Amino acid sequence: MERTYIKDLKENIGKEVSISGWIDVRRDHGKLIFIDIRDMSGKVQTVALPSNKDAHEVAGQVRPEWVVRATGIVNKRPDKMVAKNELNGEIELELKKMEVLNEAQTPPLDVRGDGMDIGEETRLKYRYLDLRRPRMQKNIRNRFKATQFVRNWFANEGFTEIETPNMSATTPEGSRDFVVPSRLENGKFYSLPQSPQQYKQLLMAAGFEKYFQLARCFRDEDTRGDRQPEFIQMDLEMSFVTAEDVIAINERALIDLVKNIYPEKKIQQIPFPRITYKEAMEKYNSDKPDIREDKNDPNLLAFLWVIDFPFFEKDPESTTGWTFTHNPFSAPKPEHMNDLMEKKNIANILTTQYDIVMNGYEIGGGSIRNHRSEALKKVFEIMGYEEERLMKNFGHMLAALNSGTPPHGGIAWGFDRLIMLLENEPNIREVIAFAKTGEGKDLMMCAPSEIPEKQMRELGIELRKKK
Ligand code: ASP
Repeated sequence: MERTYIKDLKENIGKEVSISGWIDVRRDHGKLIFIDIRDMSGKVQTVALPSNKDAHEVAGQVRPEWVVRATGIVNKRPDKMVAKNELNGEIELELKKMEVLNEAQTPPLDVRGDGMDIGEETRLKYRYLDLRRPRMQKNIRNRFKATQFVRNWFANEGFTEIETPNMSATTPEGSRDFVVPSRLENGKFYSLPQSPQQYKQLLMAAGFEKYFQLARCFRDEDTRGDRQPEFIQMDLEMSFVTAEDVIAINERALIDLVKNIYPEKKIQQIPFPRITYKEAMEKYNSDKPDIREDKNDPNLLAFLWVIDFPFFEKDPESTTGWTFTHNPFSAPKPEHMNDLMEKKNIANILTTQYDIVMNGYEIGGGSIRNHRSEALKKVFEIMGYEEERLMKNFGHMLAALNSGTPPHGGIAWGFDRLIMLLENEPNIREVIAFAKTGEGKDLMMCAPSEIPEKQMRELGIELRKKK
């Protein structure tokens, strides 16, 4: 018999149907055995009557998380047994036959509650079980809805999603790179991208004009609660635009995303307010202030653009004493281009960087870029790059800018964090299917881990003794 999804059972009252799924709860009353069965679409109460010997016998054996196929008649529950506000609260399945498709060992964690009371290490170690809980199922499915919405939205605006490599060269984005040793060229390494920054700019050089990508990014950062070594950016870049254009289209996209996928949420202020970095620091002592009028309202979203950041900040490790604050590829504000070109008033140069903040979290940031090579060169000179290092690391970028690259700019949203906030979750691990711990460990796959001696030899790697 064809499989019926549990959410569709109520359209089959009086009919014999077959469902497949997991045993959620079993309540054995001796004569009557009640079993809740769950599939990806929902849950239903089934009942095995002693009059149906075969089904009753199997019902007596099954345990939570066993996988079964059950055939039975969809009955209306007597009025006083109706569970209001519950999917399938008004029906139950009277079992005719139950087949065990697979047994399950007693699960090391309960998959039925919200899981917040279970140690996170256990949840991450047995993630395939943890993901069975309704809250995680909802988070992951909603995340996909948001992903799909964003993809369609930007596609409708004429953007092309373009994949860029994960095995690449080092990128200066304020963090450490993860590296991959090369077997074919011992002693050389690929770097995993901290973001597709250079590639997306090269796509502007290549004439695509409107690019986006749900891009995987990698940053080797010290332990921080809501960080993951790999995460997803909704990354985009556009040609022939000003900061206003990029801000406007992203604002529209965010508003439409909320309205369509999270209609219960209320956006505090449209158009999104803006604040300069200076004002933000003076007024809130934060460059990502939480400006919600009511911080107890879980459905209130207070978006805020933060603009006019300083381009450079002091860095004792830099030979010149300067490094960038956000993104070395950014252009300064037009009125500060002269100072950049003359390398003067460095502390006062403002960048075109715009950050988008929501409820006190930075959920994205971007800028207009230097599309002229002389200007990009000046940025690296201010940070103490000598000609040789500059050409070695960024020769390709300078060459691309010199081959007819249009003015361009973009942004990247921290997609995990955005979904975390929209789902009212306390950290991004709750919206990532296979998350790592705050220390960057994958407890399920046991990564990172040692590799065999043979593989080390092929890679030309010898470990130094730990001190
Ligand atoms: N690549 C930048 C980042 O990851 C975002 C951007 O400027 O578009 O922060």
